[in-house]
Amino acid sequence: MTLSKVTNAILAATILTAGSTFASDNPGAHQHGHAELQLAIEDNQVDLIFTSPAYNLLGFEHRARTEEQKALVTETTNWLGETPLVDTAEAGCTVMNAVVHHQAGGDNHGHDHGHAHDHEDKHADENGSTHSDFEVTQTLSCSRLDASEALSTPLTERFPEIEHLNVEWVWSGGQGSGRLDHGETSFRPGAR
Ligand SMILES: [Zn+2]
Repeated sequence: MTLSKVTNAILAATILTAGSTFASDNPGAHQHGHAELQLAIEDNQVDLIFTSPAYNLLGFEHRARTEEQKALVTETTNWLGETPLVDTAEAGCTVMNAVVHHQAGGDNHGHDHGHAHDHEDKHADENGSTHSDFEVTQTLSCSRLDASEALSTPLTERFPEIEHLNVEWVWSGGQGSGRLDHGETSFRPGAR
């Protein structure tokens, strides 16, 4: 399993320009039940991008209207900004920087107020004919990060609507990918 050169280039470019419009540049990637996690591992640092249809995380994709929906957007956005989306077995990773983009509205605009988008002009209807995505970028600092050990992600347990999480990684020892189904949380970048 290898990353295509195209995907690799996108990953590199997106990490260099954190805060880009990765998700909206790839509208074909929007598929309910599926989400993507891309990692670049270097020394003890992990740069990652998580993209998912909002439906997987919220259960809806229209702009939050009710107080309950707004609260869910806020709770979800905060969780995505504060929780390391990958971690070592010893929970040795901490979030150094995180940006949460979403189009679901609510009062919370993510951790980076300069980049979060709140598309008020996007009139989504109740039938779900308008789709929206979450895009999360994080920089993690991890203690004793060794690519040969298993990494875990809390995403597939936190969000049951994620049926398949596609994970792609690049690190000094190579690159690879894998797929986690619901309830599967660990992968091993160093595995051959
Ligand atoms: Zn959708």
